[in-house]
Amino acid sequence: MSSDIRSRLGLRPVINVSGTMTSLGASIVVPEAVEAVRAVLTEWTEMGDLHRVASRTIAELTGAEAGFVTASCSAAITLSVAAAITGTDLYAIEQLPDTGTRPNEVVIQTGHMVSYGAPVEQAIRMAGGKVVPVGQATSAHAYQLAGAITERTAAAVFVVSHHVVDYGQIPLTTFAKICHERGVPVIVDAASEYDLRGFLAQGADLALYSGHKFLGGPTSGIVAGSKDLVRAVYLQNRGIGRGIKVGKESIAGVIAALEAWKTRDHAGIRAREQAALDVWLKALADRPGVTATIVPDPTNNPLDRLKLAIDPEIARISAWDFATRMGQGDRPVIVRDHEAEHGYIFLDPCNLHPGEEFVVAERLGEEFEKVRGANEPVVTPLDQFWLAREASILNWPD
Ligand SMILES: *Cc1c(COP(=O)(O)O)cnc(C)c1O
Repeated sequence: MSSDIRSRLGLRPVINVSGTMTSLGASIVVPEAVEAVRAVLTEWTEMGDLHRVASRTIAELTGAEAGFVTASCSAAITLSVAAAITGTDLYAIEQLPDTGTRPNEVVIQTGHMVSYGAPVEQAIRMAGGKVVPVGQATSAHAYQLAGAITERTAAAVFVVSHHVVDYGQIPLTTFAKICHERGVPVIVDAASEYDLRGFLAQGADLALYSGHKFLGGPTSGIVAGSKDLVRAVYLQNRGIGRGIKVGKESIAGVIAALEAWKTRDHAGIRAREQAALDVWLKALADRPGVTATIVPDPTNNPLDRLKLAIDPEIARISAWDFATRMGQGDRPVIVRDHEAEHGYIFLDPCNLHPGEEFVVAERLGEEFEKVRGANEPVVTPLDQFWLAREASILNWPD
């Protein structure tokens, strides 16, 4: 495809079966959002009014009183914490990240202190928040949350994600109840979740989403919640929000993506994803050393993935080497490999252009065939593999 902007820029034509990955451009933006972005880019618009329209759209889809569009979900965490610290005090807003004598502690379960590409704690600290971890990595109790809340507490952050420890954590309803009894607002980071209403219904004061993940909007974040808090988030544009502000194109794009979400053919998309999974299951059937199973999304999003377990003795390649090789060559396929050390990778069908599932199937067969006759299995020692990957971070720009 010579019209593909990637070939014009000399970029590799990657196929993404790893999920809605920021590092790959997040998602395929839906046509309605593309059109809205294009349409607004050349027009003047009063930004406060554009934000008002977005607020109404977000409110309609989430059931919240109000909403606000930010540059990203990460920015939404920072601005929400800022809002909890300053309220609508314009002077305090200008002083951030210096919080003066205001309460600035932010409680968060230790098992929720994850990295989504950057540490969630840093997004809190950027607003002048002081992170107060609750519990230990794999356990947190209600009494620990209650005990951690003091008159210095400004907010509580709760993360919903496959990244967080998925057992031994305080459920959101209990978490919110304990915080609300002490007058502490609850900010829920639900960046990758499809459920636009559930977290507010369970007690979140602010629910935060990425506009560019499952919604298929341009790069952006969404804040939904009570009018008072959302107003305080909006007002951060007069302070730390200025440098991480969102442009008219993202606001218009998110509005369109949310509108499109209402009428999206969710069942049809699910069926297409399932058809892709079937193609891959078929391609992997009877392949020695390979076990393919369909697994549901760990946080209950309506999405299944293919889990591909690889026995290196028989398949003659480790899961992590297989992931690397899939990503090479002139038809690179980026797989979901964050658990490759366990001997398995995932294929995520939710970001495919029509027909790409067949290319992925061919590539799977191709890479397994390549190593079949090799003298030695291709198994890079895991410690070397990790150190090489870490070292490569510093290689950019070349
Ligand atoms: C992706 C993600 C983020 C960051 O979202 P951006 O919109 O890319 O800033 C934050 N939290 C979680 C749980 C995520 O998955």
